[in-house]
Amino acid sequence: MHGIALITGAGRGIGAAIARRLAAAGYELALNYARDRESAEALAAELRRPERRVLCLQADVADEGQVLSMFERIDAELGPLAALVNNAGIVVPGARLVDMDLARWQRLFNVNVIGALLCSREAARRMSTRLGGRGGAIVNISSRAAQLGSPGLYVDYAASKGALDSLTMGLGRELIEEGIRVNGVRPGIIDTEIHQTSGLDAEQLQVAAAQIPIGRLGRAEEVAEAVAWLLSDAASYIVGATLDVAGGR
Ligand code: NAP
Repeated sequence: MHGIALITGAGRGIGAAIARRLAAAGYELALNYARDRESAEALAAELRRPERRVLCLQADVADEGQVLSMFERIDAELGPLAALVNNAGIVVPGARLVDMDLARWQRLFNVNVIGALLCSREAARRMSTRLGGRGGAIVNISSRAAQLGSPGLYVDYAASKGALDSLTMGLGRELIEEGIRVNGVRPGIIDTEIHQTSGLDAEQLQVAAAQIPIGRLGRAEEVAEAVAWLLSDAASYIVGATLDVAGGR
């Protein structure tokens, strides 16, 4: 048994694949979702076993009060957290900078950056050996966009993931002396529902896929594999690093 893992945005897509992979690795799970309760509950029912508790937790990661309540429920109903995956994230419709507005940027950064900060802080308060915790591991789900910049598509989304990469680098070095390993994963283009928001239709996704050196889109399970490895003791000397899972993109 590996202890308890919280995955944000776990109801579908990459988060759900991470949940399945971590269940197979022996973790008990806290599955966070924002709106889609049905998917999260269905996943929890699929993964729950007599020996494996799985808790579904509604919280908007951008809302401090909701994040605090979520962690209090984990404390009360599951126990000490061993792993956090900051996966919850949103993308925005493709646009050029001159057509973007402040509300779009605020929501994007509140979810993708502040959400990860809030959840990492609450996790660190519980895991830190300096504060009486048992240590743990955190993985941030970034994007290849952080390094490619997504010009003409969503430079704001790319910038939010760039901030997440900086957070991984800094927190990795800050928290390692408190027994917490922080790393990240940069997925390329993964076949999930997120592209319904980005505005990329099936045809555009196929064109994009053909341009990826490996010649296809990624699968959520392929991202989950990297996350499970980074959380595991097999990655014990990996600190503050972000791994590309992008088919060569
Ligand atoms: P997805 O299929 O759209 O799923 C996103 C998940 O995040 C959903 O479970 C959603 O919950 C949750 N979520 C959204 N806003 C939230 C909030 N404010 N609080 C809590 N949960 C929230 O997306 P995905 O493709 O799996 O992406 C997962 C992560 O990978 C994101 O961080 C994304 O930026 C990153 N990523 C994806 C790709 C890709 O090509 N798919 C590439 C690079 C990086 P509800 O359903 O309840 O709203």
